[in-house]
Amino acid sequence: MSKDQNGLSRLITREIPHNKLRQDLDCFRRKAVEFGASMAEIIPANWVQIDERVRLKCAIPLCPHYQKNIYCPPHGPDLENVAKALSRYSWAILFALDVIPAEQFSDQSNKRQAADWARKAFEIVGRIETLALGSGYYLAMGFGQASCKKALCGQERCLVLEGRNCPYPLKARASMEAVGMDVYGLVTKVGWDIYPIYRSVNPGEVPRALSVGIVFIH
Ligand code: SF4
Repeated sequence: MSKDQNGLSRLITREIPHNKLRQDLDCFRRKAVEFGASMAEIIPANWVQIDERVRLKCAIPLCPHYQKNIYCPPHGPDLENVAKALSRYSWAILFALDVIPAEQFSDQSNKRQAADWARKAFEIVGRIETLALGSGYYLAMGFGQASCKKALCGQERCLVLEGRNCPYPLKARASMEAVGMDVYGLVTKVGWDIYPIYRSVNPGEVPRALSVGIVFIH
């Protein structure tokens, strides 16, 4: 792979030798860190569990983004389709940004600052997905953290739901949690410390806050 990844377009082959795949996965993992992730791991895709309870928690209690984003429930792909599609992948790159200071994760007095951490995760997802595409992994697909309404456009209601164009067509996408991925469970399985952050806890008093993203590669 060339040092400068811009415009990379590698020949698509039916089979990818195992050594080549491992080399590429390691390259994508290192790139995630280079693009700003605090940590990144290559994980078997079947570590990702689609859990209907995660999706249900978008509605109970109601998330402020529910029904207001084309990628958030009840819109977006249905879980059966997601689970079937993800079962076709073997490997994924999981990464996380350490939100420092942790209160910036959900600082109600500075929502833009909190959104910036989610935006960074969306940007890394988009860059790794593009890099994988150019490397011949044309089915690579990534998911971010939080609603792209919060992280990217900052609109009260998704422009696509109003019949308009999304200003971030390549960056905007579903979050991991919106498609039922158990992010806490996955991060714990990988071995990274993570703590619940919710409305009645001060994120500044939580030892760590993570902004997480994933790209399924092959
Ligand atoms: S970033 Fe695009 S898809 Fe996401 S909420 Fe805004 S307009 Fe909709």
